[in-house]
Amino acid sequence: MKKYTDIKTIGYPEYLEIELNKNKYKIYDVISNEDIIVDDSQKYPILQEVTKPNENRIFDGCRFQSLCGGCVFMHTNYEYELKKKKEYLNELFSSFKFDIKINGMDNPYHYRNKAMMTYKISKRGNVVCGFYEEHSHKLVPVTNCMLQSDKTNILIDKINKILTKNKIKPYDENTRQGVLRHIYIRHSTNYDQVMVVFVTNGIDFPGRGNILKDIKKENLKIDTIVQNINPRDTSIVLGDTNKVLYGPGFIYEKVSDYKFKISPNSFFQVNTKGMEILYNLAIKKANLKKTDIVLDAYSGVGTISIFVSKYVKEVISVELNKNAVKDAIINAKINNINNIDFVEADATSFITNAAKNKEKIDVIIMDPPRDGSTKQFINAVSYLNVKKVIYISCGPESLKRDLYQFSLNDYHVESIEAVDMFPKTMHVESIALITRK
Ligand code: SAH
Repeated sequence: MKKYTDIKTIGYPEYLEIELNKNKYKIYDVISNEDIIVDDSQKYPILQEVTKPNENRIFDGCRFQSLCGGCVFMHTNYEYELKKKKEYLNELFSSFKFDIKINGMDNPYHYRNKAMMTYKISKRGNVVCGFYEEHSHKLVPVTNCMLQSDKTNILIDKINKILTKNKIKPYDENTRQGVLRHIYIRHSTNYDQVMVVFVTNGIDFPGRGNILKDIKKENLKIDTIVQNINPRDTSIVLGDTNKVLYGPGFIYEKVSDYKFKISPNSFFQVNTKGMEILYNLAIKKANLKKTDIVLDAYSGVGTISIFVSKYVKEVISVELNKNAVKDAIINAKINNINNIDFVEADATSFITNAAKNKEKIDVIIMDPPRDGSTKQFINAVSYLNVKKVIYISCGPESLKRDLYQFSLNDYHVESIEAVDMFPKTMHVESIALITRK
């Protein structure tokens, strides 16, 4: 045990660097000015006790925080977390002379409509699931994850008992033995529908029939059960093939006045309430007109396209994932919307072609994955002389890079505002309003 007094943390998310056996380790579950005791008898240092807590520390967080590593703000109050996120963004984007506002959630817990956990066998021989430790492939069993819904947590617990009873063999990456890799659950916040996906390493799933029988017997109220087959040795959880074991193979979620289909392989925002706040903010910033033609790039299952459709003349929705496009078309249909053109394409190829054909686009709403967009995409936006771009980003660093590219093309960043879509984690969503000079 080692005592540290009046510690000074650095970085975002904040951490204390500790040296142990000539290696440097980061401890995230601390706040500046605290006095702490660190257990240095293990392979890596672990926070043992806080002897003088910072006033922003809370004590009813998740007991798995230090091992699981997913929730770097689990030990702080929410005001402090929002302050840190705001400071981080303002520093990152300090070259712009405006203050970045951050919109918090009413409840920073239990907001995830999605759970994705990995299986293993515990020392006692039970089937348990959890998350990988940060920067390692060690699985930490977690129960009652404070970001998932209570219903999801209860369900996972009950399913694990059924799996244990039926002697289901989790897949072991090292020995490549066993079958069951992950459990993936979607629980729609507003319709209260549940989809359970068992990810297996092959088509064979011994014990499948008994699992389904026990789930039925226990009346677990699951709307659909799917087996996803992922034989690959990658960190990507889902494979391409799904076998519906029970129900329709998908569920619905309601966001604002719209209904959306959620199927296993398509992207769907994990925070339903946050999604509504985010989209409404994007619409407000876009200040859309009934005559506008809007490009929704990286459009997923068409949620943004559907939200903006009633304000504009036409939406072109561009998405690379074939299944997402299929769902997007269905989503437009079930919401009785017929002014969206759905295109399955790489966003950069699509806009490059649009530039060649000198197509008319008034506003772009773009929401690329964490790595951001491409130079070529941004150059094509400029070539098309698009007046206004709303850039939604879950990767502040890539947003910064892409905003620089916009600035090289005579675009001006008018504002950036953040929505805390992922409370308790280090992640934060930003929306930039970019206009032609
Ligand atoms: N706007 C949607 C989805 C955002 S996630 C929403 O709010 O729900 C980013 C989406 O970009 C994913 O659906 C992903 O499949 C898609 N995508 C990734 N690379 C792409 C590319 N090169 N071209 C088009 N879409 C892409």
